[in-house]
Amino acid sequence: MLQKGEEHRVNGLGYVIAAGLLVQFVVDRVVEVKNLRVLRYHPPPELADTYDDERFRLAQRYLYDNSRFGWVSDGAFLLILFGFWFGGGFAALDGWVRSAALHPVLEGVVFIAVLAGGWWALSLPFQIFHTFVIEERHGFNRATPAIFATDQIKTLLLSILLGVPLLSAIVAIFLRAGAHAWLWCWIAAGLYVMTVQTLAPTWILPLFNRFEPLVDGRLRRELFRYVRSIRFPLENVFVMDGSKRSDKSNAFFTGFGRRRRIVLLDTLVRDLSVSELVAVVAHEAGHAKRRHLFWMTALIMARIGCWLFVFSLVMRYEVLYRAFGVATISVQAGLVFFCLLLAPLDLFTGPAIHALSRRNEREADRFAAATTGDPEALISALKKLSSRNLGNPTPHPYMVWRRYSHPPILERITNIRADGSASARETAEPRGAAPEAVPCRERNGLE
Ligand SMILES: [Zn+2]
Repeated sequence: MLQKGEEHRVNGLGYVIAAGLLVQFVVDRVVEVKNLRVLRYHPPPELADTYDDERFRLAQRYLYDNSRFGWVSDGAFLLILFGFWFGGGFAALDGWVRSAALHPVLEGVVFIAVLAGGWWALSLPFQIFHTFVIEERHGFNRATPAIFATDQIKTLLLSILLGVPLLSAIVAIFLRAGAHAWLWCWIAAGLYVMTVQTLAPTWILPLFNRFEPLVDGRLRRELFRYVRSIRFPLENVFVMDGSKRSDKSNAFFTGFGRRRRIVLLDTLVRDLSVSELVAVVAHEAGHAKRRHLFWMTALIMARIGCWLFVFSLVMRYEVLYRAFGVATISVQAGLVFFCLLLAPLDLFTGPAIHALSRRNEREADRFAAATTGDPEALISALKKLSSRNLGNPTPHPYMVWRRYSHPPILERITNIRADGSASARETAEPRGAAPEAVPCRERNGLE
């Protein structure tokens, strides 16, 4: 029997999990400091045509501001989490939800919704600061407070609309489906991911942006000529009003099969030449041809399957709940605590996924360079995008390991040239399939 005052006491496992989260925080800060220490005074000679000294210094100031922001926001979130956790917040919330005597599924949804809502409310001031102070200071922000507020409301409503059914299904399955609950949840999660991916281009993206078909002209003709040359089905090319929110540039594909569309941000169309835009689209086509999105989604689904299985094994152990000061076992608290238990593992899984993504980027670049026959157009597009998005051309290798989903710009240029000369040597031998290429979204710019 617990003594008074001991109800919310956190057990040894709780301290181990807290230590794991702290280690993750410290590793990220060490990586950031190392990254700032290798900054140079002048741009590398390869980039001298797109980064002058002034632009290079701007990129470094942008990096410095973002690193400092990471210290403050990550530190504040960790402190708030620890305060809530060790101050008995989880136990109090659990008790409050139980006292409401709701349907068990609704109880689960309310428990998680209160935590997610609290997290969103806490993150709001940080998002406002990042958009209207940091992005504004560096000339990226184009969003007005009205656009920002509307975006937040739409995102919140969308999260409720999409999140509540999934959450209800998971809680209901774990409450009723017995030993195979994890398998049913996995199937439900897979169906959910497929549905959202299908709905996103036609129902979700238009809620936030306008998409205009690209007007007929040289760019449109060259893009269609290129996609026909690689036998890539394409329904249309759209230009998205990205400049409504940000001055950063990008491009992406939406839809599947014959309904595939290319979306170019208006900022990209404004800044790049026709051959550079074809190269960017060729990079995206490389991702599609090599089925990178499919394999990445398959990998993420495999990871979700593993986690659900392990969760089904550990959810009945009281020790997990005691680690967070909660005395009663429940699906909802178990899910939240299991996620916190796994969070420090991101130190291992995150870099592994990023490494795979960088490999895919190189493959997409190779595809673009080979199928357009113009590697220099791709290189010059990448350089322009990196400079425009104030990317850091000389990151520390630890930072690349921890956060980079794309190889740093100089490495990409070297790889495109090296892969180009390697494939030129092979041209005597016919290849079974078309080569590959193209861009993705990255922290410092281009995809
Ligand atoms: Zn890419």
